[in-house]
Amino acid sequence: MENCIFCKIASGEIKGDIVFQNESVVAFRDLSPQAPVHILVIPRKHIATLNELAPADDNLVSKMVRTATELADKEGLAEKGYRLVLNCNEQGGQSVFHIHLHLLGGRHMGWPPG
Ligand code: 5GP
Ligand code: ZN
Repeated sequence: MENCIFCKIASGEIKGDIVFQNESVVAFRDLSPQAPVHILVIPRKHIATLNELAPADDNLVSKMVRTATELADKEGLAEKGYRLVLNCNEQGGQSVFHIHLHLLGGRHMGWPPG
């Protein structure tokens, strides 16, 4: 998608601090980290919001979650714990319209979220 910042990071057009990538997903560090570890996992495929997910994307979503859990382990977060977050649209707090899974860890996470 033209003018999508996350498509540009995935394609390499814009530099990102990429920690993992394969044919389906790309993971990179958030520009404005909200925790000691804050990584975004995105599909290479442009999907604007969770509302656009189709049954055909089930495998892709599973790969995003698997990537995040493996990175959590690699970052030393698995035992103490971490949080995975998906924001959707305005009230959900979404600001970039290419779906992304936040991996947050390295500090205690409050509940309920703000
Ligand atoms: P959202 O609010 O949509 O759930 O999350 C978007 C996230 O993307 C935010 O945490 C924000 O800091 C991050 N972000 C926005 N633009 C960029 C960018 O150009 N590079 C990186 N690495 N992160 C970005
Ligand atoms: Zn995109």
